[in-house]
Amino acid sequence: MIQKAALAACLMLTAATGAWAQEQVLNLYSARHYSTDEALYDNFTKTTGVKINRVDADDAGILARLKAEGSASPADVILLVDASRLWKGEVDGLFLPIKSKTLDNAIPPQLRAKTDADGKTAWFGFSTRARVIVYDKLKVKREDVDTYEKLADPVNKGRLCIRSGSHPYNLSLFGAMVEHLGPAKTEVWLKGLVDNMARPPKGGDTDQIKGVASGECGVAVTNSYYLARLMRSNKPEDRAIVEKVGVIFPNQSSWGTHVNVAGGAVARYSKNPANAVKFLEYLASPKAQDYFADGNNEWPAAKGVKVNNAALQAMTGGSFKSETIPVSAVGMNQIKVQQMLDRVGFK
Ligand code: FE
Repeated sequence: MIQKAALAACLMLTAATGAWAQEQVLNLYSARHYSTDEALYDNFTKTTGVKINRVDADDAGILARLKAEGSASPADVILLVDASRLWKGEVDGLFLPIKSKTLDNAIPPQLRAKTDADGKTAWFGFSTRARVIVYDKLKVKREDVDTYEKLADPVNKGRLCIRSGSHPYNLSLFGAMVEHLGPAKTEVWLKGLVDNMARPPKGGDTDQIKGVASGECGVAVTNSYYLARLMRSNKPEDRAIVEKVGVIFPNQSSWGTHVNVAGGAVARYSKNPANAVKFLEYLASPKAQDYFADGNNEWPAAKGVKVNNAALQAMTGGSFKSETIPVSAVGMNQIKVQQMLDRVGFK
């Protein structure tokens, strides 16, 4: 009899512990893999007692996995890079739109999803990156490449290197151009880019910077953090690359440089949505913003958080003018843009 009661008590305790343990773990699907992110998660666990269980994959892999898992998905929080991917996750219904005063106050409206009729938001940007132009300082005149439009100018024939047009970073840039120029002019511009290419699109952004340094390309397009990474490198070969290239934050005298985000959302079928929101709110706090942005040489997205990165300071001379169109609009244009790319033969 006594034994039976003890067993029952023991089972009850196990059940209670199990439930408790479940509440205290957050499953994070992340497309970010930086060592500084470890410190970021440890701090969250220290202050809240909630453990972070991280699943690493790339953005496409995360979106595919969420779709395949459906309502059985253990995911609580999703971290992705690029507005066009965040937009894709949103329209595919993979996120749980949330209402958070803390996030609404911290993250500027143009760096998050459009707020719905219930005042809820599907995703928030937590860091920003600029899509900049690098050029051969010896062979190319700065004033010939200081706007995105000029990349299509005949003066730059045979000079342009750029990664695949279908890559999300370019889909977002071209989606922004649709907002600035309208679709007809954007398509003409894209055709101009194709006409000016030094080689068919290949490789990632760093390969384009290297192409400029090697003399194969006169001008190239890259996300700012790839250049910052080379600037902060101790390797002599990286220093040699940085020596050869100039950097331009395009369109400073018109609409400003195209800016994209890395961002996060609560997973649609999260079993711990309250903790998931708490985690996103934590990411918007000044200390977490510093880790999150600096870990990948990006700018903090939250209002009033100072930049703490020497390479970014050197690159911009302190500050630059960024475009003000919402990153959510940029994502929305990607299907239209892909059709244009097919028509003009931009691989
Ligand atoms: Fe990247």
